[in-house]
Amino acid sequence: MKIIVIGGGAAGLMAAYAASTGSNEVILLEKNEKLGKKIYITGKGRCNLANSCDTQTFLKNVVSNPRFLYGAVSRLDPDATVALFNDLGLETKIERGNRVFPISDHASDVTKTLEKAIKKAGVSIMLNSEVSAIKTSDDRFGSVVLSNGKEIEADACIIATGGLSYPSTGSTGDGYGFALKMGHTVIPCVPSLVGLKTKESFVSEMEGLSLKNVRLDAYLSGKKKYSEQGEMLFTHNGVSGPLILTASALFARDLAGGAELKLIIDLKPSLTSEMLEERLLREFASASNKDIKNVLRSLIPSSMIEPFLRLCSLNGEKKVNSVTAPERKKIVSVLKGFELNVSGAGGFNEAVVTKGGIKVNEIDPKTMESKLVKNIFFAGEIIDVDAFTGGFNLQIAWSTGYAAGTALSAEF
Ligand SMILES: Cc1cc2nc3c(=O)[nH]c(=O)nc-3n(C[C@H](O)[C@H](O)[C@H](O)COP(=O)(O)OP(=O)(O)OC[C@H]3O[C@@H](n4cnc5c(N)ncnc54)[C@H](O)[C@@H]3O)c2cc1C
Repeated sequence: MKIIVIGGGAAGLMAAYAASTGSNEVILLEKNEKLGKKIYITGKGRCNLANSCDTQTFLKNVVSNPRFLYGAVSRLDPDATVALFNDLGLETKIERGNRVFPISDHASDVTKTLEKAIKKAGVSIMLNSEVSAIKTSDDRFGSVVLSNGKEIEADACIIATGGLSYPSTGSTGDGYGFALKMGHTVIPCVPSLVGLKTKESFVSEMEGLSLKNVRLDAYLSGKKKYSEQGEMLFTHNGVSGPLILTASALFARDLAGGAELKLIIDLKPSLTSEMLEERLLREFASASNKDIKNVLRSLIPSSMIEPFLRLCSLNGEKKVNSVTAPERKKIVSVLKGFELNVSGAGGFNEAVVTKGGIKVNEIDPKTMESKLVKNIFFAGEIIDVDAFTGGFNLQIAWSTGYAAGTALSAEF
């Protein structure tokens, strides 16, 4: 059987590997000059390739359509994925939050491992080969046409062209166009796992400031929808970091639809308002002639002091012995509820993943085959599935790629 895989990213590499058994002839088409351009930048260059967790935990970390992934992840679960990489020669280690990384800390080793394996299995790798169209007849795959006009016929085609995020890596959404032409539905795509922009421009004064152990409460159209303790940071136009990325995954679609999102940050989650007020009274008593801005230094990071004082309507030079009780209460309330209003999410060029894609009920969840066009398969981020950070998105790529590849290898 002759199989074409479009896209040499995580899903395409795994699909090509899994399909390249027996007498199958596999051709991998990648438009870039090299394979795995996106893998190279994952996990800040270290590639968090999986999360060492059970299937249920994995599915809990999938935001869109987890049930669709059950079949694929049961076939290649996180532990089996890591074992497969280990068998192929990649040594791995597990870090905080069960995140799996190559022991070398080099994302490029993940790509090299798969590249070596598919070469050994006899896969023909065609780089600088951009697919511009897919031809079908009688709802059956026929051939692919490259942008240089060359046409390649095959028995089956796995589309693993990725989503729209970080388009500089080659993920420019080409596969959606192919799928639409074949009659598939593409659920509208929005950026996910992305920083959020705020209406408050003062965030720029705190650019680069990272807050650890804060509580974030997110209110969507006035209703509390998310509450979590962790880490976040300020950017030139908003907020980012783990808590915010998770919130973006949950509310990306609402934000794209213009919904109101308010973030309330509790800067001192381990202290009640009463405890905080007592602490303030103690600090004020021991430094009654000091300026309020200097006393605040023991409570909040220095780049936060100016914006914080403005939110409290306080002059930083005010001596603490003249701070009134209502002013003290205001300080406590801002410490327990630092408010930011989201004006929108960052764009695809800074989003870790794309939310949206090929509608899942048009794909067979066991084999990833299109239910509309015979011998067309989908794998990876192109499908309408996305997950939180922690190695889960690459797991989606590995599992769906493996499911599509093995479905084809099983046929012969
Ligand atoms: C900065 C960043 C960090 C990330 N870190 C992590 C992490 O640590 N852990 C994790 O789990 N996930 C991470 N992700 C997400 C993860 O990288 C993706 O979900 C995953 O790579 C998707 O794999 P894919 O194969 O489906 O798509 P892609 O990786 O996008 O691959 C698609 C490939 O198809 C090629 N292609 C597209 N169109 C055509 C065409 N017409 N013809 C030929 N080839 C084509 C592209 O050039 C590309 O190589 C990160 C993402 C980003 C952007």
